[in-house]
Amino acid sequence: MRYTTKEIVFITTQCLNKAHCFESDVWQGEMVCAWMRYDQQIKSTVNFEISTVAGSEYIHFKDIEHDCLPGVKTKLDCMAKLDCTPCHFGGRRWWLICPMVANGKACNRRVGALYLPTTGTVFGCRRCCKLRYEKSRKSYYKYL
Ligand SMILES: [Zn+2]
Repeated sequence: MRYTTKEIVFITTQCLNKAHCFESDVWQGEMVCAWMRYDQQIKSTVNFEISTVAGSEYIHFKDIEHDCLPGVKTKLDCMAKLDCTPCHFGGRRWWLICPMVANGKACNRRVGALYLPTTGTVFGCRRCCKLRYEKSRKSYYKYL
């Protein structure tokens, strides 16, 4: 079965921007992602650290807790590199580099969203996670 992009935990650069994660050298905190499992909405709290220090730009996913299983934290130990490109109107646009390894080869695609397979502990891009794209995505993030 192939999941769609709204049926899986995801992190986007858009929501990281909204939470001002890229504005300090190192940002540590949690973010809540709402997604759908069958007909049930699940809110998952992802705990991570972001570094925008030049030469050491990364996002480090540490653990995740689902509201359907309160108090149960699943350890993640996943690092994804960050990349940034200059914007038209000044400032920088941040990208996530897919850290998933398939057939011994790192994906390294530059993407705007990373997804966490339900049974996995490593985030990957839409292609690595073999997701169908869901255009009318209604999921949302809340910055805590
Ligand atoms: Zn990938």
